[in-house]
Amino acid sequence: MKCSLGGNFSNGELVPFGNIEINPSAGVLNYGQGLFEGLKAYRREDGNILLFRPKENATRMMMGAERMCMPSPSVDQFLQAVKATVLANERWIPPPGKGSLYIRPLLMGTGSILGLGPAPEYTFLIYVSPVGNYFKEGLSPINLLVETDMHRACPGGTGGVKTIGNYAAVLKAQGAAKAKGFSDVLYLNSVNKKLLEEVSSCNIFVVKGNTISTPEIEGTILPGITRKSIIDMARDQGFQVFEKPVTVDELLEADEVFCTGTAVVVSPVGSITYLGKRVTYGSGGVGVVSQRLYSELTRLQMGLVDDKMGWTVELK
Ligand code: PMP
Repeated sequence: MKCSLGGNFSNGELVPFGNIEINPSAGVLNYGQGLFEGLKAYRREDGNILLFRPKENATRMMMGAERMCMPSPSVDQFLQAVKATVLANERWIPPPGKGSLYIRPLLMGTGSILGLGPAPEYTFLIYVSPVGNYFKEGLSPINLLVETDMHRACPGGTGGVKTIGNYAAVLKAQGAAKAKGFSDVLYLNSVNKKLLEEVSSCNIFVVKGNTISTPEIEGTILPGITRKSIIDMARDQGFQVFEKPVTVDELLEADEVFCTGTAVVVSPVGSITYLGKRVTYGSGGVGVVSQRLYSELTRLQMGLVDDKMGWTVELK
């Protein structure tokens, strides 16, 4: 595999995947100045390659960079680097319907800085890997534990950007939940502990009748690109969709719950455990709304249906 490595964001080169050299006093190693993105490339039946909403990733990286005091590639530089990296790795893209190529752009302070401050130099690189399902359950329902002690974000913090430290912050709760047999953790708002935030690496939706609700974006949860897409798709299908504060009670009384993200796509939630009480949705199988949205989204991403939303980008 190869990755693209560019110091000033525009004259990157393709180099074989491998270790990179980094100064021990680099900003990213000492002060966590790092951001990443995640997107996928799909192989279409006719051999073309599709990216899903890559401009949204570029824009989110730019917004995150502003919060983390880093310069960032422009949208065009980001897209060019992603396209070049994917095309150079075309042979690693699974056949249609067999998975996708996960693309991981990284932006980090690689300049040396001993006293606290922004690093003097930055590196933008991209690496890729073929992937299948994120959760071992696939489209089978996952079981979430609501975390009532630890939080991944606080108001005014960095929860709304894709910075590396946010992921270090979830490892402990996630590890403990997995050790007890749960698939992942659902976090609560650190101020109002009756409000939902998100899962370690995906956004959450609750379904009640014809209504679908998801926590609003207020700086403590990641503005997911899949979240945004599912909101539009569900509205298009006639659902009433609300971005609003969503309570634990709404979660426990929902007809159906699902998570969204680039890696997880749409993952149905089979059960939620809150303060030792387990609530199972429906018969514990895949809910009809989750199934419908999953099918529609994946068909669009794989190029099996007309992309009337204009969300996919052809690489060839
Ligand atoms: N929340 C968190 C914390 C995430 O890491 C992700 C994955 N990027 C998401 C939500 C979903 O975002 P997206 O749909 O853009 O992948």
